[in-house]
Amino acid sequence: MKKDIRMGTKAIWAGEKEQLAFGATQVPVVHSVSYGYEDMDEWYEVAVGNKKGHIYGRNTNPTVEAFENKVRILEGAEHATAFSTGMAAISNTLGTFLFPGDRIVSIKDTYGGTNKIFTEFLPQLNIDVVLCDTGDHEAIEAEVAKGCKVLYLETPTNPTVKITDIARMARAGKKAGALVIVDNTFATPINQNPLALGVDLVLHSATKFLGGHADALGGVLVGAKELVEKVYHYREINGATMDPMSAYLLLRGMKTLKLRVERQNENAMKVAEYLQSVDIVDDVFYPGLETHPHHDIAKEQMSGFGGMLSFSVKGGVDTVRHLLPKLEFANRAANLGSVETIVGPSRTTSHVECTPEERAAMGIPEGLIRYSAGIEDIEDLIGDLEQAFQSLPKEIFTSV
Ligand SMILES: *Cc1c(COP(=O)(O)O)cnc(C)c1O
Repeated sequence: MKKDIRMGTKAIWAGEKEQLAFGATQVPVVHSVSYGYEDMDEWYEVAVGNKKGHIYGRNTNPTVEAFENKVRILEGAEHATAFSTGMAAISNTLGTFLFPGDRIVSIKDTYGGTNKIFTEFLPQLNIDVVLCDTGDHEAIEAEVAKGCKVLYLETPTNPTVKITDIARMARAGKKAGALVIVDNTFATPINQNPLALGVDLVLHSATKFLGGHADALGGVLVGAKELVEKVYHYREINGATMDPMSAYLLLRGMKTLKLRVERQNENAMKVAEYLQSVDIVDDVFYPGLETHPHHDIAKEQMSGFGGMLSFSVKGGVDTVRHLLPKLEFANRAANLGSVETIVGPSRTTSHVECTPEERAAMGIPEGLIRYSAGIEDIEDLIGDLEQAFQSLPKEIFTSV
């Protein structure tokens, strides 16, 4: 697809044409475990990779390939490979490049599952994991300069939407000969393109914004062909393959990616601004607010500030317990990035594994609420929050 085609058009058209069949205008869901050949020489040529084609469903699938190509083109990458979940994309990528004795530098605020890989599984393999304070660029640079195989970043982070300067970290990584990987789930390719900022590999939990309808799990990795093919090989053997039905649902969801994300950017900004005016709200975390400590970096590297924000309320868990059930237009659930607004306390969602003391050390108050803005009409979202705040029992206000 031509370079100057815009993102909204790419989201709709990219990656599909090659997989169409029977004159259908939509990509088919190819539910076939294997692919048959009458010509033994042709079968061999496909099997050894000399000729395009499919052999076995654990390796490749036409529906999955359309999904991979759509994400690849949106991220401006050379190559892409898909996985059963976002965590499979992360674990397979790390598993491909990290060996016993290696060192990886990352941040303290990565997604909970990623953090578990860093604190539980990689140390078991004698891999040295260094986790720096998120947003402390000097500390990350100093650790990277000591030498590391991988620099792993996520920005914005979960749930306090901290921002790391991607271009600066890519330079630090390059200087140290490290592979720089960014989890771009929160930003989506609509708001942020880390490859263009100099990183080596970008991955997504497609389960979130890419799919956008909370009905399919998936993960995807994009970057240079040489690197992604290594991870593809690890994945085809280890088996965390994306299911064709999920690929279809994700593809269909992605057609509206730009529309959805633009609306979510707008809604999140307006909700964040509204929350700043509410007495019982202590802090609002959103990279689009000028009060955000890294608003300038976000402005520089993002074309939209995303659909994710969080806020803390006076009265902590007690207030959360009364407030969230009152919301009519929000799911109280663990996922994010869907067309519906989704809310949840961090102590139940992203940081459920931590003790209250650990959460406090990470700057996550017990009364922190994560808010994933949906694509509803903004008047209704704010109206819903207003009525929920107004219905809080009087003793909440007198006790805080
Ligand atoms: C959800 C999420 C993941 C994990 O994705 P799954 O599809 O649930 O495995 C990884 N990174 C981020 C930032 C996420 O939000």
